[in-house]
Amino acid sequence: MDLAGLAQSGVSRNSDVTEVRERNRQRRLRRLAVLLALVAVLAVTRATLAVVDVAEGRAGAAHSVLALPRLSLPGLGPYAPALLLTLLLVAVIGGPMLAMGRSPHVLYRPEEMGIGLADVVGADTVVEEAVKTLNLFLNHRVLREEMGGNPRRGVLFEGPPGTGKTYIAKALAAEAGVPFLFVSSSAFQSMYYGQTNRKIRSYFKSLRKAARREGGAIGFIEEIDAIGSARTGMSGGGGREGVAGVVNELLIQLQSFDHPSGWQRARGVLLDVVNRWLPAGRRLVERPPEPANVLVIGATNRAADLDPALLRPGRFDRTISVDLPSRSGRRQILDYYLARKAHEADLDDPLRRDALAATTFGYSPVMLERLLDEALVWALRRGGRGLGWEDVQRAKMTSELGLAQPAALTERERRCVATHEAGHATVAWLVAPERKLEVLSIVKRRSSLGLLAHTERDERWTVTQSEVENLIRIAFGGMVAEELFFGETSSGVAGDLKAATEAAARMVGSWGMGDTLVSLDAVPGPVHPVARALGDDGTARQVETILGRARDDVRGLLHANAGLVAALRDALLERDELIGPEIGEVLVAAGALAPGSPARAHSPAPGSPVPAPGADPLGVIDLRDAQPEPRA
Ligand code: ADP
Repeated sequence: MDLAGLAQSGVSRNSDVTEVRERNRQRRLRRLAVLLALVAVLAVTRATLAVVDVAEGRAGAAHSVLALPRLSLPGLGPYAPALLLTLLLVAVIGGPMLAMGRSPHVLYRPEEMGIGLADVVGADTVVEEAVKTLNLFLNHRVLREEMGGNPRRGVLFEGPPGTGKTYIAKALAAEAGVPFLFVSSSAFQSMYYGQTNRKIRSYFKSLRKAARREGGAIGFIEEIDAIGSARTGMSGGGGREGVAGVVNELLIQLQSFDHPSGWQRARGVLLDVVNRWLPAGRRLVERPPEPANVLVIGATNRAADLDPALLRPGRFDRTISVDLPSRSGRRQILDYYLARKAHEADLDDPLRRDALAATTFGYSPVMLERLLDEALVWALRRGGRGLGWEDVQRAKMTSELGLAQPAALTERERRCVATHEAGHATVAWLVAPERKLEVLSIVKRRSSLGLLAHTERDERWTVTQSEVENLIRIAFGGMVAEELFFGETSSGVAGDLKAATEAAARMVGSWGMGDTLVSLDAVPGPVHPVARALGDDGTARQVETILGRARDDVRGLLHANAGLVAALRDALLERDELIGPEIGEVLVAAGALAPGSPARAHSPAPGSPVPAPGADPLGVIDLRDAQPEPRA
């Protein structure tokens, strides 16, 4: 045992798990030796008997000494077909029922995982915390026997999809050299009463078995909220057993690691029988069973929905947040994957890599990996042997904004789309200098006939009141430009109004930026905060006021700068798409003040496109909790 193993910062190598595995290996070897000895004794006996038989002239009798007895079922002959049919029916009906209760996990052996903690990059804090938990797992006996503590049984990995929850858990199991039993919560669910709980029991049984055999095992339950959601109300989740039944089973199983194994139970029964015959002072005593060394990792992106009992001590009592990577984390992930993918020399330039890390705010590790894969496809299309900077930019645009799909628009409609988008971009330029204009386009992508994509210049986690108001103004840019140039607006403003309304409702109901300091988020219940703000006459009126004021501001702004809108519109009609600095160039050529000018008080981001008339979703103001959202 290695007391130092608990204190060190790396993964401890000389652990209890290694010791148990070695002990089990030796026991297995001893069993094999006993078995081989028995077979040898049998073979020698048989040979000796044969020799004796031959010597005494009883050739052939040796068969009768050791041959297997012949089975005969007298009188069954006429019933044999019926019996066979019955057995077949039982197998057909009962077989699937039995199979349905089996554990639905997938078993990965340590050698099969092919990754270690060195492959988890850009998540240093998470890895550090995970290693601490792993060392407790590896040195469970030191903790229990020498220090009187209780090993950690469950850890919850919380974070958006694709942030590496499964990946980190696999790396941990590979480092520990123990089996990894992966299961997705949906695989537990069954339409038959009792089967969901049976599957959960079988899964934990498999975990205990693997842990006893290998010195430890790591279980991973994906999307644990699907079976562990709070036991309230009339929720119908959790299969036929209902949520309460399934959560109860989970809670019971999380406490099951001290249960004796089947073999230990059988030995206990035998001891009981023997002890009944022994005087009180001479009874045989069995050592209490050693707990199975299991670590269960639950993964979810909705930890708040979990039943509180699951998060109590002894269950999933440690939550590790696996967040989207920071800029330096993204840089490390890009370095890691670029080292494994053929790329051109321009992507070896550290400045280019930094720039790519800076413009992929909100990307999860898996999205960065896929982005480079997509860039490889673009490289192949142009006949390249490795991905280059331009391929990555193309891939980025495709994954963020969608594939360009030419749409047959009438000339007036095309002009209206261009005016609408030019309106957004002009307002963004004039009022929101903190935003960087990335793409202005009238090429149809997904459901948008056109879009303005803009990002924060710096990586930000919160928004100020003036920034939200600017986003609302940008959203009104399209509507007011249509009004100004066509005298009326089109249905294409729907998405803009939706986004503006959502932002204004959050200002009033959640962020204390309206006339009230009362937070509607404090009202318990599942109603969406925007619905709460709009459902109340007082707050709905405040939302209306904020929207009206923003629209009036934008009217004033675009009346005074109609020339800028016209210039951008014409450039769009000519070129279809303006990328990055091209937008500013058109505006400056038309007389706008250059970026950095203090009077340019002003610009959205990939991930926040502004759709044109006819397009539905907007997403220009994606301010949910002012947190970056993974771009699905
Ligand atoms: P989650 O379970 O959070 O949805 P996964 O663990 O399935 O996400 O991650 C998906 C993929 O993303 C992994 O298979 C791996 O290729 C990549 N990945 C995730 N996190 C990292 C990381 N920190 N470093 C390198 N690659 C990562």
